[in-house]
Amino acid sequence: MKNKSVVSIISALIISVIVGIFLQGNIDIANMFQPLGTIYVNLIKMIMVPMVFSSLILGITSITDIKKIGKMGALTVIFFLATTAMAIVTGLILSNVFKPGEGILVGNAVYEAKKMPGLVDIIVGIFPDNILEAILNTNMLQIIFVTITIGIAIVKIYPKGRTLKECIEDLYGIISIVTKWVMTLTPLGILGLMIPTVAQNGIEVLLPLAKLILVFYLAVIIHVGVTYCFSIKCLSEFSIKMFFKGMLPAQIIAFVSCSSAAALPISIQRMQDELKVSKEVSSFVLPLGATINMDGNALYQGIVALFVAQAYGLELTLAMQVIVVLTGTLASIGAAGVPGAGMIVLSTVLISVGLPIDGIALVAGIDRILDMGRTFTNVTGDAVTAIIIEKVLKKTK
Ligand code: ASP
Repeated sequence: MKNKSVVSIISALIISVIVGIFLQGNIDIANMFQPLGTIYVNLIKMIMVPMVFSSLILGITSITDIKKIGKMGALTVIFFLATTAMAIVTGLILSNVFKPGEGILVGNAVYEAKKMPGLVDIIVGIFPDNILEAILNTNMLQIIFVTITIGIAIVKIYPKGRTLKECIEDLYGIISIVTKWVMTLTPLGILGLMIPTVAQNGIEVLLPLAKLILVFYLAVIIHVGVTYCFSIKCLSEFSIKMFFKGMLPAQIIAFVSCSSAAALPISIQRMQDELKVSKEVSSFVLPLGATINMDGNALYQGIVALFVAQAYGLELTLAMQVIVVLTGTLASIGAAGVPGAGMIVLSTVLISVGLPIDGIALVAGIDRILDMGRTFTNVTGDAVTAIIIEKVLKKTK
């Protein structure tokens, strides 16, 4: 994608905000743009599974030392967990300092919690009993497991299996072209996703929780601007400018669609084509990250757990805040990369420290606005991890 397309994506974002504000009294007209967004997100989801499968097979089969896969997996998970925990701590610190929940009227807020899978369920769930079902359900962890297994098996029986590998190479080529076609529709997708969002979130919706929104976005700026930029500068081979120039389209799609999963094919393509990160790293770290690494979600957990405590006039001791960090980090692993997943994680975090789950109802009305920042951060965090793992693996070759 050339700079012209990046400009058209940014222009579409600006136009959507202006049109959305203009249509704030006319939600019905704004909602007429929605199908454009739905079609666009469906199209990217359509290419997700073949993209991850073909690209990851090509990556795995290019690795000569199978042990490298285990090392890459371990390093990736360690980095994911470390940045997630740091994100929750950042959120907790900002919420302690700015106290966004003070003075909030609790009223009779009610929220019905949904159940999150536990860590054991998540681990058991990695192993599918049916490959086709894993694909049909777009279960990313299962797809990654199956793909790596098949990839290693192809390496083991080589030169047998050569024809299959060539077919997969062709599949990757075809999917890359389809991805480029879908990318040309991005400006339209942005209009369809953003105009209704801006129109539905008028000042009267945002104002009562303005402090929370500001504290959350300050946390996003600090996490992306300090933690990530520092990591890019010190631990990767890229300059901060190169990184953001390369990944901006994927970050914007994450922001407007509120879905890491929807941004995934674009992230993979940008990382491979623009930043020239190897297939083995990008097609392993990014899908795994879209499923288990949620730094934006973690920032949100830290801030909103304290927000709820403050709103209900309850104290969250330091020990309880440590529990928030631990449960938030683990629960983020189980969250799906889809809109609104962060609110489900929040119920686990609130229960772990005995805070009222009904507190979620206080923030549910502005969830889309917070989700945009969460997803932007989630996708950025995955990409930062990928370029760091790429450098570490090169160094330790
Ligand atoms: N929407 C986020 C994502 O797709 C998950 C969340 O709600 O935090 O990454």
